[in-house]
Amino acid sequence: MSQDVTAAFNFEELDELYREVILDHYRSPRNRAPVPNPHITSEGQNPFCGDEVAVQVRLEDGRIAQVGVQGRGCSISVASASIMGELLKGKTLEEAQRLSRRVREMLQGKPLSPQEREELGDLEALRGVSKFPVRIKCALLGWMTLEEGIQAWRKGAPSQQ
Ligand code: ZN
Repeated sequence: MSQDVTAAFNFEELDELYREVILDHYRSPRNRAPVPNPHITSEGQNPFCGDEVAVQVRLEDGRIAQVGVQGRGCSISVASASIMGELLKGKTLEEAQRLSRRVREMLQGKPLSPQEREELGDLEALRGVSKFPVRIKCALLGWMTLEEGIQAWRKGAPSQQ
């Protein structure tokens, strides 16, 4: 296949409303400040696109109390990680992982129930990305990085404080 799959992604093909949500998070990513003394820290890269993300989570009473997300790269990766940070607050790690699975399913094109759509909130803006397989990695980077951090923390890996 000689076609450049990256170039095949056309931002204009996303619905206008979704485009605005993505651009808003890309231009002003939420929760950018690093969290002091985090329980969970993780960094991830998507070499296909050059995206990078760092995630910190601080827990209180078994719930996510503080989130830091520093993303660099394309609009899809930065926006997805920014929306993730907003959705994580107040959730247990199990709830966060369930949401992560949901995002993956959405990006694989699985139809969602109204309740599942509500759980996803602004993330639904990324649904159109499912048509562009190369960009799915961009949209999942923050979530995969979070999951790796959760797994490492559960195994008792020393945090990098
Ligand atoms: Zn990307």
